[in-house]
Amino acid sequence: MTNKVALVTGGARGIGFGIALRLARDGFDVALSGRRSVEETQAAVAPIREHCPSALYVQADVADGRARARLLLAIEEHFGRLDVLVNNAGIAPRARADILEAREEHFDEVMTTNLKGPYFLTQAAAAWMIRQRESLGTSHRAIVNIGSVSATVTSINRGEYCLSKAGVAMATRLWAARLAEFGIGVYEVRPGIIESEMTEGVRGKYDALIETGLLIEKRWGTAADVASAVSVLARGELPYATGAVIAVDGGLTQQRL
Ligand code: NDP
Repeated sequence: MTNKVALVTGGARGIGFGIALRLARDGFDVALSGRRSVEETQAAVAPIREHCPSALYVQADVADGRARARLLLAIEEHFGRLDVLVNNAGIAPRARADILEAREEHFDEVMTTNLKGPYFLTQAAAAWMIRQRESLGTSHRAIVNIGSVSATVTSINRGEYCLSKAGVAMATRLWAARLAEFGIGVYEVRPGIIESEMTEGVRGKYDALIETGLLIEKRWGTAADVASAVSVLARGELPYATGAVIAVDGGLTQQRL
């Protein structure tokens, strides 16, 4: 028996790193991808290799179709299988700008990275997972999209990000409907305010909001919080729930009077 293999895009930093570390601890063989080179991410990947010595890092821009194909090929050559895809890689807009002024090229960049790239990576990975059923059997396979509360909560100074995550929510539902017959569960994990490089620039703003009652659970979320939810889904511990959205947001999206 070989281990199950999980790919985490953007796995060498932030939330993706937390997910990859958790899945390696859970016993998965782990593949990671990102924009940085193998050399640049060597130190970051080391803690994952303590649990999964064969962990593979591939430099692959998720927005680039040829890079996505190379990524899956590298995993096939290294591990020979893929059981779990975690679409985590994502970006905030280069500049937060009022939607009355925001620029079209920033819109394109965010949508291509956060929505189009993962959508077509899912298409290619799912096709491979379907083929694998003949050689490896019908055990649980999963695709987990890292969405955001921004799928439903408006931020008028980063409209393209909100739109991209609203699109990820629908992509989850589409792929859940398409892939159920092949035993592939598709889920969205929807984080709120999580400590990472992405939120460093707005730390003061969110500190103040948390202090004044934005959340039910009064603290920043962590990559480990998000990773716990992904782990449950990757291990097939949430059966009969394909298409589900798991909020990991400390109650941010719960309406209160
Ligand atoms: P970070 O900015 O800390 O990390 C982003 C990761 O994505 C990096 O590993 C980066 O790789 C990778 N990445 C970015 N662009 C590309 C690309 N074009 N191709 C391949 N990899 C890419 O962000 P977070 O960890 O905070 O965010 C991870 C996910 O969680 C994102 O989808 C984000 O939208 C979502 N999220 C984050 C929240 C938060 O509060 N932090 C809240 C809700 C959702 P590299 O380092 O090589 O560039």
